[in-house]
Amino acid sequence: MNIVLLGAPGAGKGTQAAKLVSEEGLCHISTGDILRQAVKDQTELGMKAKAFMDAGDLVPDELIIDLMRERIQQPDTAKGVILDGFPRTTTQAVALDTMLSELGRPLDAALLIDVDPEIIVGRLTSRRMCRECGAIGTAADGDTCKKCGGEMYQRDDDNETTVRNRLEVYEKSTSPLIDYYRGCDLLVTIDGDRDPEVVFVDVKSVLK
Ligand code: AMP
Repeated sequence: MNIVLLGAPGAGKGTQAAKLVSEEGLCHISTGDILRQAVKDQTELGMKAKAFMDAGDLVPDELIIDLMRERIQQPDTAKGVILDGFPRTTTQAVALDTMLSELGRPLDAALLIDVDPEIIVGRLTSRRMCRECGAIGTAADGDTCKKCGGEMYQRDDDNETTVRNRLEVYEKSTSPLIDYYRGCDLLVTIDGDRDPEVVFVDVKSVLK
């Protein structure tokens, strides 16, 4: 099964993807996680991407498409993938269609996790992430990861100014994908403004 998770930053795509990985054994590919690791490792890709990420802007399509073309061919994707944060532009969506058709693996669904933008600002500015395992929590959870004991930190791009820019970028560049996938008859919309466990019940029922 190959799934695209759509939704604004902070809608809960990463949280739902993590649940799908543990229950369905699918391979989770988050371009944001790959880029953050590249920045941390100071690779060529990381150095090219950092300024865009810090500003809340999109990394150029060519870099992301090259990255994804290589990642999607790795053996761990054979059982199926959950794409989280990719595609984010129509150019990326068209490139993904080509990649999947070359691999003979069609897309099964594009799940839109729908959340009101003002709720997102509050969610993201209080979001925390584990430096070690990438688990997602909130400021109220404290400084230590419940899963692995690592340090919980606030992402550089989760401050309010950058969050508002990321939401504008989403509206302008990524929300047209909703119509794109509706046109392919692959779009399913799920109300993301609920407890993650309740959202997950809907996600699973859609994928059955
Ligand atoms: P995320 O963790 O998905 O919120 O992504 C964090 C940041 O990484 C974004 O604000 C962008 O700067 C960059 N990024 C992640 N995925 C993409 C993508 N598919 N296209 C362009 N930039 C991306």
